[in-house]
Amino acid sequence: MTIPAPSAGTNFIRTLIDQDLASGKHQAIITRFPPEPNGYLHIGHAKSLCLNFGLALHYGGCCHLRFDDTNPVKEEQEYIDAIKADVRWLGFDWGTHEYYASDYFEKLYGFAERLIEKGLAYVCDLSADQIREYRGTLTEPGRESPYRNRTVAENLDLLRRMRAGEFADGSRVLRARIDMTSPNLNLRDPVLYRILHATHHRTGDAWCLYPMYDFAHGQSDSIEGITHSICTLEFEAHRPLYDWLCDALAIYHPQQIEFARLNLTYTVMSKRRLLELVNEGRVAGWDDPRMPTLSGMRRRGYPAAAIRTFCDRIGVGKSDSVIDMSVLEDCVREELDRTAPRAMGVLRPLKVVITNYPAGEAEQLTVPNHPKEPAFGTRMLPFGSELYIERDDFMENPPGKYFRLAPGREVRLRYAYIIRCDEVIKDPASGEIKELRCSYDPATGGGETPDGRKVKGIIHWVAAANAVPAEIRLYDRLFSVANPTADKASDYRGTLNPESLEILGEALLEPTLAAAAPGSCFQFERLGYFCVDAGTAPGRPRFNRTVTLRDSWAKMVGAES
Ligand code: ATP
Ligand code: MG
Repeated sequence: MTIPAPSAGTNFIRTLIDQDLASGKHQAIITRFPPEPNGYLHIGHAKSLCLNFGLALHYGGCCHLRFDDTNPVKEEQEYIDAIKADVRWLGFDWGTHEYYASDYFEKLYGFAERLIEKGLAYVCDLSADQIREYRGTLTEPGRESPYRNRTVAENLDLLRRMRAGEFADGSRVLRARIDMTSPNLNLRDPVLYRILHATHHRTGDAWCLYPMYDFAHGQSDSIEGITHSICTLEFEAHRPLYDWLCDALAIYHPQQIEFARLNLTYTVMSKRRLLELVNEGRVAGWDDPRMPTLSGMRRRGYPAAAIRTFCDRIGVGKSDSVIDMSVLEDCVREELDRTAPRAMGVLRPLKVVITNYPAGEAEQLTVPNHPKEPAFGTRMLPFGSELYIERDDFMENPPGKYFRLAPGREVRLRYAYIIRCDEVIKDPASGEIKELRCSYDPATGGGETPDGRKVKGIIHWVAAANAVPAEIRLYDRLFSVANPTADKASDYRGTLNPESLEILGEALLEPTLAAAAPGSCFQFERLGYFCVDAGTAPGRPRFNRTVTLRDSWAKMVGAES
């Protein structure tokens, strides 16, 4: 597991681009982000986005958003819309440079005919299984297809009839004519086109012949004049084919550069698996706050800036590694610590009656919205004779070093008075603690202790009057093991964390939170960061816990701060 050092600001890709600009190979750089619209973007895509758009920003170039929509069976408009929203949310702007591989279908088809004319491609009638069998292995050379030496005229005729819809799916393919003995399997006459009678979400039924990834991708890069085509490491072995195709077609030749993809602990990142989790109802949708998708993280309250910081911090390298989820969570905490106003909320309320506080009276305390940033201002927090505290801030028989409330003990209510627990009221039948009777020391308001007495515990609270009832969703990691797909013998779904979502229906929040807008984030003092859910209802807001506070107990319980 790798804990990355802070980014040094440069990386091997920048070094390469610097050289290309210095040598005059390029005057300006053009990168691209090429998602296949077959799912929502995840945090791995964020790494690629930050890299490609980041380079364009750094060098004053531009970054294209290109939808790699060559598979009509798995692709949908919903995904295109979601991808665009996520890229924008992350803070990137592609301007007018929105492209679709499907817009190049005619051009790509022209390239296919050109290859045939040069004797560099042929129509092959072998089945998919036969092609696999003929391909050979890493240790054995492949065998040439019996259709490899068809004439140019015959190949052109067949390809045109394939396009015209004369043949069934799977009956024929177009293959590059390269080298069946190449040590690189990708060069053993790879398939360039397949027949697929399917309606495409953009081109409708205009085509029944669709280009394979390797053919569409590099040629789209070339058409757009991409200077540096940056992809993940598993495409390293495809680079010779990328280069071969550009050379064979004698078209503009971008440079493919590979970098290590992002892997994160306690989650899965393949879109196929994420789609399974959605379709099988194991999560509430692509934007479920437990998902590693950008829409899930947004709904959970992760700020876009925290994700950009994370991508910067993990850096760009050439060797595969797994980043610990806590690195991302730390970025979220750092960002929210700076930007989230503080508030008071009680997740599991226990009623407290202050017996010596004048009944029916109330006061408004002025409290800071941020402990370190005066610019956040102050707000009014009501205090009265009936309050709620957190259930686990009281113990009837506390162990040593428990500095919170217990019978006969004192505790500080944050921003308010010191109270002492005088009596515990229980349900006579169940024995459950129903209420605490406490007395307060009027001389200790506003954090004052005139007699200098030491009260170690400070707890959060909410006044009963005008408290806002809320639903709180506590999220934990989606999987209970660091690498859910490590065990190839068993299904990754077996490692889903059954406790990844806990819903608390009785939380009470301070009155100012009644009108908090969806998406806004707060630190609930002592508890963590919480974000108003997109599906919140007026009158009874729903908050998602974004992330817990680090070392919250150690910091807050030990001493007054
Ligand atoms: P999947 O295999 O899950 O379908 P993909 O890589 O095929 O993912 P694309 O939509 O093709 O998904 O990806 C768009 C871009 O994002 C590609 O350039 C790809 O290299 C990059 N990308 C995808 N996953 C990661 C990752 N985990 N880390 C870094 N970049 C990634
Ligand atoms: Mg892909």
